[in-house]
Amino acid sequence: MEHVPEDWTRGIVVVAHPDDIEYGAAAAVARWTRQGKDIRYVLATSGEAGIAGLPPAECGPLREEEERASAAIVGVETVEFLGHPDGRLVAGPDLRRDVAAAIRRHRPEMVVTANFGLTWFPGALNSADHRALGLSALDAVSDAANEWIFPELTEEQGLAPWSGVRWAAVNLPGASHAVDVTDTVDVAVESLAAHRRYLEALSGADVAEQARAQVEMATGPLPGFPAARAVGFDLYTFSG
Ligand SMILES: [Zn+2]
Repeated sequence: MEHVPEDWTRGIVVVAHPDDIEYGAAAAVARWTRQGKDIRYVLATSGEAGIAGLPPAECGPLREEEERASAAIVGVETVEFLGHPDGRLVAGPDLRRDVAAAIRRHRPEMVVTANFGLTWFPGALNSADHRALGLSALDAVSDAANEWIFPELTEEQGLAPWSGVRWAAVNLPGASHAVDVTDTVDVAVESLAAHRRYLEALSGADVAEQARAQVEMATGPLPGFPAARAVGFDLYTFSG
Protein backbone atom coordinates (compact mmCIF):
# COMPACT_ATOMS: atom_id res chain seq x y z
CA MET A 1 0.00 0.00 0.00
CA GLU A 2 1.39 3.39 -1.02
CA HIS A 3 1.25 6.85 0.53
CA VAL A 4 -1.18 9.39 -0.91
CA PRO A 5 1.05 12.13 -2.43
CA GLU A 6 1.50 15.19 -0.22
CA ASP A 7 3.54 17.50 -2.49
CA TRP A 8 0.68 19.88 -3.20
CA THR A 9 -0.72 22.99 -1.57
CA ARG A 10 -4.44 23.31 -2.32
CA GLY A 11 -7.17 20.70 -2.20
CA ILE A 12 -10.93 20.47 -2.10
CA VAL A 13 -13.06 17.77 -0.55
CA VAL A 14 -16.29 17.17 -2.49
CA VAL A 15 -19.04 15.10 -0.86
CA ALA A 16 -22.81 14.70 -0.85
CA HIS A 17 -23.74 15.48 2.78
CA PRO A 18 -22.67 17.19 5.99
CA ASP A 19 -20.89 14.44 8.02
CA ASP A 20 -19.57 12.47 5.00
CA ILE A 21 -16.08 13.92 5.48
CA GLU A 22 -16.08 13.41 9.23
CA TYR A 23 -16.32 9.60 9.16
CA GLY A 24 -12.56 9.21 8.61
CA ALA A 25 -11.40 11.58 5.88
CA ALA A 26 -11.30 14.54 8.28
CA ALA A 27 -8.34 12.89 10.04
CA ALA A 28 -6.39 13.20 6.77
CA VAL A 29 -7.65 16.75 6.31
CA ALA A 30 -6.38 17.66 9.79
CA ARG A 31 -2.94 16.26 8.92
CA TRP A 32 -2.85 18.24 5.68
CA THR A 33 -3.91 21.56 7.21
CA ARG A 34 -1.22 21.06 9.89
CA GLN A 35 1.25 20.77 7.01
CA GLY A 36 0.06 24.20 5.85
CA LYS A 37 -2.14 23.01 3.01
CA ASP A 38 -5.21 25.02 2.02
CA ILE A 39 -8.25 22.70 2.11
CA ARG A 40 -11.83 23.70 1.28
CA TYR A 41 -15.07 21.73 1.48
CA VAL A 42 -17.73 21.53 -1.23
CA LEU A 43 -21.01 19.79 -0.35
CA ALA A 44 -23.58 18.98 -2.99
CA THR A 45 -26.48 19.11 -0.51
CA SER A 46 -27.15 20.59 2.91
CA GLY A 47 -28.22 17.21 4.30
CA GLU A 48 -31.71 18.58 4.82
CA ALA A 49 -33.38 15.15 4.52
CA GLY A 50 -31.05 13.57 7.07
CA ILE A 51 -32.86 13.81 10.42
CA ALA A 52 -36.11 11.93 10.99
CA GLY A 53 -38.81 14.19 12.42
CA LEU A 54 -36.99 17.42 11.55
CA PRO A 55 -38.40 19.18 8.47
CA PRO A 56 -35.86 20.03 5.74
CA ALA A 57 -36.36 23.80 6.11
CA GLU A 58 -35.09 23.59 9.70
CA CYS A 59 -32.68 20.73 9.18
CA GLY A 60 -30.68 22.22 6.27
CA PRO A 61 -29.46 25.37 8.07
CA LEU A 62 -28.71 23.37 11.23
CA ARG A 63 -26.62 20.84 9.36
CA GLU A 64 -24.77 23.56 7.43
CA GLU A 65 -23.86 25.13 10.74
CA GLU A 66 -22.66 21.79 12.14
CA GLU A 67 -20.56 21.22 9.03
CA ARG A 68 -18.91 24.62 9.32
CA ALA A 69 -18.07 23.87 12.95
CA SER A 70 -16.65 20.46 11.98
CA ALA A 71 -14.57 22.05 9.24
CA ALA A 72 -13.15 24.73 11.54
CA ILE A 73 -11.96 22.07 14.00
CA VAL A 74 -9.69 20.53 11.33
CA GLY A 75 -8.49 23.88 9.97
CA VAL A 76 -10.92 24.36 7.07
CA GLU A 77 -12.46 27.82 6.76
CA THR A 78 -14.23 27.66 3.41
CA VAL A 79 -17.33 25.46 3.18
CA GLU A 80 -19.63 25.68 0.17
CA PHE A 81 -23.06 24.13 -0.33
CA LEU A 82 -24.16 23.63 -3.93
CA GLY A 83 -27.87 23.36 -3.10
CA HIS A 84 -28.69 20.07 -4.81
CA PRO A 85 -31.58 18.14 -3.21
CA ASP A 86 -30.61 15.76 -0.41
CA GLY A 87 -31.59 12.19 -1.24
CA ARG A 88 -32.13 12.93 -4.91
CA LEU A 89 -28.65 13.52 -6.36
CA VAL A 90 -28.33 12.47 -9.97
CA ALA A 91 -24.99 11.59 -11.55
CA GLY A 92 -24.96 13.61 -14.72
CA PRO A 93 -24.42 16.97 -16.36
CA ASP A 94 -26.09 19.21 -13.73
CA LEU A 95 -24.02 17.86 -10.87
CA ARG A 96 -20.85 17.66 -12.97
CA ARG A 97 -21.27 21.29 -14.06
CA ASP A 98 -21.70 22.55 -10.50
CA VAL A 99 -18.71 20.58 -9.19
CA ALA A 100 -16.66 21.69 -12.22
CA ALA A 101 -17.57 25.29 -11.33
CA ALA A 102 -16.31 24.69 -7.78
CA ILE A 103 -13.07 23.21 -9.14
CA ARG A 104 -12.61 26.30 -11.29
CA ARG A 105 -13.33 28.62 -8.35
CA HIS A 106 -10.90 26.93 -5.99
CA ARG A 107 -8.24 25.74 -8.46
CA PRO A 108 -7.09 22.70 -6.46
CA GLU A 109 -4.28 20.28 -7.23
CA MET A 110 -5.99 17.53 -5.21
CA VAL A 111 -9.69 16.61 -5.25
CA VAL A 112 -10.85 14.30 -2.46
CA THR A 113 -14.18 12.55 -2.57
CA ALA A 114 -15.89 9.56 -0.99
CA ASN A 115 -16.82 5.99 -1.86
CA PHE A 116 -19.18 5.88 -4.83
CA GLY A 117 -19.25 2.11 -5.12
CA LEU A 118 -22.45 0.10 -4.96
CA THR A 119 -21.60 -1.20 -1.47
CA TRP A 120 -19.46 -0.47 1.60
CA PHE A 121 -18.86 -4.18 1.97
CA PRO A 122 -20.75 -7.08 0.44
CA GLY A 123 -24.41 -6.77 1.35
CA ALA A 124 -24.23 -3.15 2.61
CA LEU A 125 -25.69 -0.87 -0.06
CA ASN A 126 -24.08 2.56 -0.44
CA SER A 127 -26.54 5.48 -0.65
CA ALA A 128 -27.91 6.74 -3.97
CA ASP A 129 -26.46 10.20 -3.28
CA HIS A 130 -22.97 8.83 -2.56
CA ARG A 131 -23.03 6.75 -5.75
CA ALA A 132 -24.04 9.78 -7.82
CA LEU A 133 -21.76 12.30 -6.18
CA GLY A 134 -18.42 10.50 -6.26
CA LEU A 135 -18.63 9.57 -9.90
CA SER A 136 -19.71 13.07 -10.91
CA ALA A 137 -16.93 14.63 -8.82
CA LEU A 138 -14.30 12.57 -10.65
CA ASP A 139 -15.84 13.37 -14.04
CA ALA A 140 -15.94 17.07 -13.12
CA VAL A 141 -12.13 17.17 -12.95
CA SER A 142 -11.96 16.78 -16.73
CA ASP A 143 -15.04 18.96 -17.24
CA ALA A 144 -13.35 21.80 -15.33
CA ALA A 145 -10.37 21.64 -17.69
CA ASN A 146 -12.39 21.58 -20.91
CA GLU A 147 -13.58 24.90 -22.33
CA TRP A 148 -16.35 23.35 -24.47
CA ILE A 149 -18.29 20.94 -22.23
CA PHE A 150 -19.85 23.64 -20.01
CA PRO A 151 -19.16 26.92 -21.85
CA GLU A 152 -21.68 28.71 -19.60
CA LEU A 153 -19.21 28.47 -16.73
CA THR A 154 -16.99 30.94 -18.58
CA GLU A 155 -19.70 32.94 -20.31
CA GLU A 156 -22.04 33.40 -17.33
CA GLN A 157 -19.85 32.90 -14.28
CA GLY A 158 -16.50 34.13 -15.62
CA LEU A 159 -14.76 30.93 -14.54
CA ALA A 160 -11.75 30.10 -16.69
CA PRO A 161 -10.91 26.43 -17.32
CA TRP A 162 -8.68 24.84 -14.67
CA SER A 163 -6.43 21.95 -15.65
CA GLY A 164 -4.27 21.96 -12.53
CA VAL A 165 -5.83 18.96 -10.77
CA ARG A 166 -3.07 16.35 -10.47
CA TRP A 167 -4.87 13.74 -8.40
CA ALA A 168 -8.25 12.69 -7.09
CA ALA A 169 -8.40 10.56 -3.97
CA VAL A 170 -11.48 8.51 -3.12
CA ASN A 171 -11.91 7.61 0.54
CA LEU A 172 -13.10 4.00 0.78
CA PRO A 173 -12.45 0.67 2.44
CA GLY A 174 -9.89 -1.63 0.80
CA ALA A 175 -8.08 1.23 -0.92
CA SER A 176 -4.71 1.21 -2.70
CA HIS A 177 -3.20 4.27 -0.95
CA ALA A 178 -3.30 5.69 2.56
CA VAL A 179 -2.59 8.67 4.80
CA ASP A 180 -0.98 8.29 8.23
CA VAL A 181 -3.46 9.86 10.67
CA THR A 182 -1.94 8.58 13.91
CA ASP A 183 -1.58 12.15 15.23
CA THR A 184 -4.95 13.50 14.10
CA VAL A 185 -7.49 10.91 15.24
CA ASP A 186 -8.42 12.97 18.30
CA VAL A 187 -9.16 16.13 16.34
CA ALA A 188 -11.13 14.06 13.82
CA VAL A 189 -13.28 12.73 16.68
CA GLU A 190 -13.96 16.32 17.77
CA SER A 191 -14.83 17.22 14.19
CA LEU A 192 -17.41 14.42 13.94
CA ALA A 193 -18.82 15.24 17.38
CA ALA A 194 -19.65 18.73 16.09
CA HIS A 195 -22.55 17.05 14.24
CA ARG A 196 -24.30 16.98 17.57
CA ARG A 197 -27.95 17.16 16.55
CA TYR A 198 -27.41 14.65 13.76
CA LEU A 199 -25.68 12.12 16.03
CA GLU A 200 -28.24 12.61 18.79
CA ALA A 201 -30.94 11.71 16.27
CA LEU A 202 -29.06 8.60 15.14
CA SER A 203 -28.54 7.05 18.55
CA GLY A 204 -29.20 7.59 22.23
CA ALA A 205 -25.51 6.97 22.99
CA ASP A 206 -23.30 9.84 24.14
CA VAL A 207 -22.24 11.95 21.13
CA ALA A 208 -18.54 12.01 22.04
CA GLU A 209 -18.53 8.24 22.48
CA GLN A 210 -20.33 7.69 19.18
CA ALA A 211 -17.85 9.95 17.42
CA ARG A 212 -14.84 8.19 18.92
CA ALA A 213 -16.14 4.73 18.04
CA GLN A 214 -16.92 5.74 14.44
CA VAL A 215 -13.62 7.50 13.79
CA GLU A 216 -11.59 4.71 15.40
CA MET A 217 -13.39 2.19 13.21
CA ALA A 218 -12.58 4.27 10.11
CA THR A 219 -8.91 4.84 11.00
CA GLY A 220 -7.55 1.45 11.98
CA PRO A 221 -4.13 0.19 10.90
CA LEU A 222 -4.10 -0.89 7.25
CA PRO A 223 -2.30 -4.00 6.01
CA GLY A 224 1.12 -3.16 4.56
CA PHE A 225 1.00 0.50 5.58
CA PRO A 226 3.50 1.68 8.21
CA ALA A 227 1.21 3.66 10.54
CA ALA A 228 -0.65 2.90 13.75
CA ARG A 229 -3.71 4.61 12.27
CA ALA A 230 -4.47 5.33 8.62
CA VAL A 231 -7.20 6.36 6.23
CA GLY A 232 -7.39 4.64 2.84
CA PHE A 233 -7.92 6.23 -0.56
CA ASP A 234 -7.96 5.03 -4.15
CA LEU A 235 -5.86 7.42 -6.21
CA TYR A 236 -6.58 8.70 -9.71
CA THR A 237 -3.97 10.73 -11.60
CA PHE A 238 -4.65 13.46 -14.14
CA SER A 239 -2.20 14.85 -16.66
CA GLY A 240 -3.37 18.44 -16.19
ZN1 LIG B 1 -23.68 10.87 3.13
